[in-house]
This record gives sequence, C-alpha cells and structure tokens, in this order.
Amino acid sequence: MKNIEQKVKKTLEKMKLSQKDKILVAMSGGKDSSVTAYLLKKFGYNIEGFHIDLGMGSYSKRCLEAVKKLCKQLDIKLHIYNIKKEMGSSMCYIRSGIQHEKKGLKNCAICGVIKKWIMNREARKLHFKYIATGHNLDDETQTFLMNILKGSPQLSANSGIITRNVKDKKFITRIKPLFYVAENDIRKYSKKMKLPVVYERCPCALDSYRIQMRQFTNSLTTKEKENIMKNFDILFPLIQKLKTEEGLKYCEICGEPSRNNICKMCQLVRVRKNR
Ligand code: SF4
Ligand SMILES: [Zn+2]
Repeated sequence: MKNIEQKVKKTLEKMKLSQKDKILVAMSGGKDSSVTAYLLKKFGYNIEGFHIDLGMGSYSKRCLEAVKKLCKQLDIKLHIYNIKKEMGSSMCYIRSGIQHEKKGLKNCAICGVIKKWIMNREARKLHFKYIATGHNLDDETQTFLMNILKGSPQLSANSGIITRNVKDKKFITRIKPLFYVAENDIRKYSKKMKLPVVYERCPCALDSYRIQMRQFTNSLTTKEKENIMKNFDILFPLIQKLKTEEGLKYCEICGEPSRNNICKMCQLVRVRKNR
C-alpha cells in the first residue's frame, strides 16, 4: 500500500504543482478517480470534486451516491453536472442519436468527447487551474499501444502525467496522478481503504476497441506494462517530431479550444441536430 502512495507522491512532485492551486477531480464513482481524489486530499492538495451524472439508469445512480459519500468523507465540495438537465437527454439518447447518423462510432468515443468538453468548460467557469483524472498505468499502456497499432504514434504526443504542449487560456491543464500505478494495485488499495466505490464496469462500454486491448494488457505483468511506458518516455521526443497538427484554435460554433475550426463535440452534436 505504501508503494502506491510513494509512486503517486513522486508523480505529483514531478508535476511541480503548488498546494494552493485549485484542482478539480473528475470523479466517476469508480475506483481510479476515487483513489485519485483520496490521495490528492491525503497529500494536502486543494481539491474539489466534479461528477457528470450521465443519466444511465441505476448504474448512474449508484455512481452518484458513491461520489457523494466519498466527498463527504474527504470533506470536499462536489460539483454535479446533470446531463439530462443541461443537455436535454441522457448520454444514452444523445449517443444513439449520433450513432444513427455515424454508424461506426463507438460508445466510448462519443461519450469521451462529450465528457471532456463538459469538464474543460465547467472547470474554467469555476476557475480551476487543473483537472485531475484517474487514468492509470493500464489505461495509458492501452492508449499507447492502440495508437501504435493504428499507425499513428503521434496521437500520443500530448500524453503524459500532465498535458504538455497545450498552452491556452481556455484550456485547463489535465493531470494524471495514477499514471504509473497498475489497475490491480488501485483496486486493492481502494478496498483496503474501504472507499465507497462502484466496481462494476460501465454497462455502455461493451463495444470498445479498448476492451480488446484491455484483454491483452491484462495478460501482462506490471513490470511489462511499466516497460511499455518506459518506451513511451524514450520515444516521446521522436513522437513530438511526427506531430503535424497546428496549435489550438477556438471552435467556430461553441468557442471552446479545438484543434480544428469546429471542435469534436460540435461535429458530433451537429450530426445529431441534422437528423
Ligand atoms: S465507459 Fe465509455 S460509455 Fe461508459 S462512461 Fe466511460 S466513456 Fe462513457
Ligand atoms: Zn465546438
């Protein structure tokens, strides 16, 4: 257990954050984001929680309850974004509307874009300097390998413990305190600390390419996953050179930071509106 705490402490030290900086923790109710919030608080950082209620039936209700309980336990403020209230429908409806037009799009690809867009905008409105997410060693290994298999390692150019290369007043820097911690260790730690956590997987994550990759990374040892990410660190300067994309601009529709004239969120939602 001490090992996890030391790893996270070391990762946070590398980021050179100030303990005064306001950090908004994206809390889903799962083990990773719960351990992230727990450890940031334990190490004295200035955190508040943020939960997106996706309106996905009893699963979302259980997640919300777990997040509320943990925030109470940690004595931190919780901000709740209710997608039904704010956007008019649950994530399931928004997603199936988009998929009606764009058949090949996977659930998590759509949900991920929408959640990132919400997080950045809300964190900025609330004047947070950082957004902390619960991405762990397994997630990062999977992403790196997926980008390599797609033949696009440059997609990992902005990856790392802290978002690099993105300096923009409208973009909130993201940090990943669990970057070097294996998923199994996080599960054990959350159980040991008796954190209120929803352990079941999201019911909508059924068709993700990531699931296939997860099956593969589950067959690896922690050491092997660490080695893959060591390769990432070694290759990082090269990956940077492969990057062709321009800097950030602002989306012509919503005004949020974007790599293109129209951000990914507006591209998706426009599809839905065009129906
Ligand atoms: S697992 Fe996929 S569908 Fe479920 S909340 Fe996460 S991104 Fe959304
Ligand atoms: Zn937009």
